[in-house]
Amino acid sequence: MASQGILYTISAPSGAGKTSLVHALLERTDNICVSVSHTTRKQRPGEVDGVDYHFVSVEEFQSMLGEASFLEHAQVFDNYYGTSQAWVNQQLAQGIDVILEIDWQGAAQVRRIMPATRSIFILPPSSETLQQRLRGRGQDDEDTIARRMQAAVDEMSHFAEAEYLVINDDFEVALADLQAIIRSQRLSLPSQQLKYQALLADLLSRSDQF
Ligand code: GDP
Ligand code: ADP
Ligand code: 5GP
Repeated sequence: MASQGILYTISAPSGAGKTSLVHALLERTDNICVSVSHTTRKQRPGEVDGVDYHFVSVEEFQSMLGEASFLEHAQVFDNYYGTSQAWVNQQLAQGIDVILEIDWQGAAQVRRIMPATRSIFILPPSSETLQQRLRGRGQDDEDTIARRMQAAVDEMSHFAEAEYLVINDDFEVALADLQAIIRSQRLSLPSQQLKYQALLADLLSRSDQF
């Protein structure tokens, strides 16, 4: 059997830096990709359909739900978000690791369906910093920022459901932490056994030659 990719969920309150961190992680790591979610949220300036999200109408989202197209879905703020099941399975089957940048509700659903999923939570170094980053991003109006700050406390209260916790204070340190998590998973026995099946069989079959 060819090696199977590892599935990760990364959750964080809005503004904690998960999108920037995941972007940098993908640039520096081979054989890993991020799932592009479907969302009914309005496209922000600078966002590209099919790259940042698949932007769909509520009707389209509901019809995909009816066709069981989503591995998980959730309502976050006033919008729906969902992860394409077929796309994720295709990547994993090709041995590519997949990151889902999804909220805690979605991460819980995915862990239930696919227990081998590794879950990571990212937190900001302080509330003040979180607020500054949300404002600094310049993508949301004051009303939205206030609602996102409230929702952030709710999202953060679920940190202990994840297996790994990364604090995004210094960007490079947080990025190195994420890289270390990915690397350690790749070195775990089940992953290495699949990858080195032939070597392991060969090493153990040679006892008569020594
Ligand atoms: P961000 O806070 O700037 O990342 O804002 P987004 O609009 O990109 O994401 C809003 C929320 O939706 C975040 O909590 C994400 O983790 C979550 N989210 C994004 N995509 C998905 C998805 O496919 N499924 C689920 N369950 N949540 C998602
Ligand atoms: P999220 O996807 O979690 O909502 P973003 O990746 O959009 O967060 O980050 C929010 C803002 O904070 C962005 O403007 C980003 O450049 C900035 N940012 C992220 N991490 C750091 C960091 N460690 N130090 C300073 N600014 C950061
Ligand atoms: P934003 O609208 O700022 O891009 O994202 C808001 C929140 O929705 C983020 O916390 C993000 O993680 C979450 N989110 C984005 N895509 C998905 C998804 O496909 N599924 C789930 N459950 N949450 C998502």
